[in-house]
Amino acid sequence: MQELKKYKIFDISLFATSVVVAILFAPLEVEWTKFLLVSAIYVVFSTIYSSLRIQYGSGSGSYDYGVSYTQSLALFAGPFGLLIFETVHRFVIFFQRKYMKTADEDEFTDTLYNIGSFTLYHTVGYLFFFALFPYAEMVPFGYFLLFFVSAVIISWQSDILLVVAFYISGNVRTWSEVVKFFNKRSILDTGKVAITNGLLFYFVMESQWEMLIVFFIMNYIVSKSFLSKHETIQNELERDRFREMAYTDFMTGLSNRAMMDKKMEEINGTNEVLAIVVADIDKFKSINDSYNHAIGDRVIQHFAGILKSHASNDDCVFRSGGEEFTLFLRGRSYAECLEVLELVRSYVSAHPVHVEHNGAETAIDYTASYGLYFNKMTEELPMERAYIYADQLLLEAKDLGRNRVNVSDGQRIVIHS
Ligand code: GH3
Ligand code: MG
Ligand code: MG
Repeated sequence: MQELKKYKIFDISLFATSVVVAILFAPLEVEWTKFLLVSAIYVVFSTIYSSLRIQYGSGSGSYDYGVSYTQSLALFAGPFGLLIFETVHRFVIFFQRKYMKTADEDEFTDTLYNIGSFTLYHTVGYLFFFALFPYAEMVPFGYFLLFFVSAVIISWQSDILLVVAFYISGNVRTWSEVVKFFNKRSILDTGKVAITNGLLFYFVMESQWEMLIVFFIMNYIVSKSFLSKHETIQNELERDRFREMAYTDFMTGLSNRAMMDKKMEEINGTNEVLAIVVADIDKFKSINDSYNHAIGDRVIQHFAGILKSHASNDDCVFRSGGEEFTLFLRGRSYAECLEVLELVRSYVSAHPVHVEHNGAETAIDYTASYGLYFNKMTEELPMERAYIYADQLLLEAKDLGRNRVNVSDGQRIVIHS
């Protein structure tokens, strides 16, 4: 048989202790009919509300915490009634999760943990509350203040117990994790719990059933609306981040080919006049072979940096292949495009990459070739075709001896090194 894990023993002992404590407070202090009615309403709303709860930890150690209505129920029903309520409530959630197939493998002992822990620390809260209740009337808002202080005491106990449980199950190991866990509690959350339970307790004691139910509904709506807003913002942030990742080349920080295709699509048929440039590092294979791939990467990054620094904000620079880049030079005349490119070409050939190779500082000279196609992007001339022309011009530049800017016949002004 499988050995019973330590944290399971902890969960079971906690539950057993809570049963003993609850029995000490038996029998029920309130009428059974009222107790059953209140418990039923609480179970329904607590179960609905539990879908909004945050879970901390992972796998075997994910326990619920978050806003709970238990404080007011404990004060109304006492520890014995509390145990009955918690048992029903937690097992409803247990079976709900089993049914939805979202239950952990340790769901049963987690459930026992939740019943035991909630019963125990709300019993402490109960004793504390009624010890100070007679004095609460002496100060303004004393009643709610008392709820607040009790809520603080309850949440501390709950945090301590959770940390112990996480420690035993191995979810929390270091002191800083413990501190981080405690810091998760905010005074606002505690205030919310205190006021919620203060009002609930009042409605229950006064048998204000409609108010009770409306208040539960209001609490659900408010929390749900915050949660969905939060999720929407979270989703948007994530979507933006993934979009950026999908369009970025990590090695150079430039936009990638997917972004290039998207931009081409945007420009197609707009009648914009621009230059498409395909640039490719010359004899790059020999750089890889003479040094190594990592140094090859440094050369690619160096070239990317030069292209980027010569481009304007309107221009686009893409890493369209391994050591091949594409530029859209925009808002410039043909002569200006050539000028920019000639500047890039001469800059590259005059600025070697400084790297460390075999422990020595090495300067690597390299050059690149460029095919430039300048035209108006009409319906008849889509960017994809212009790109093919620019690529052919690049091939020609290679054939013509490399380290040059090559343009189409009608526009031919070949600039030599
Ligand atoms: P050419 O002057 O005709 O352009 O010659 P080339 O050697 O530059 O061209 P070729 O296409 O034969 O070789 C390109 C090499 O670039 C082949 C490939 O292994 C290498 N390469 C592609 N992507 C990367 C990369 O990200 N990092 C490194 N280090 N090398 C790459
Ligand atoms: Mg090359
Ligand atoms: Mg190439």
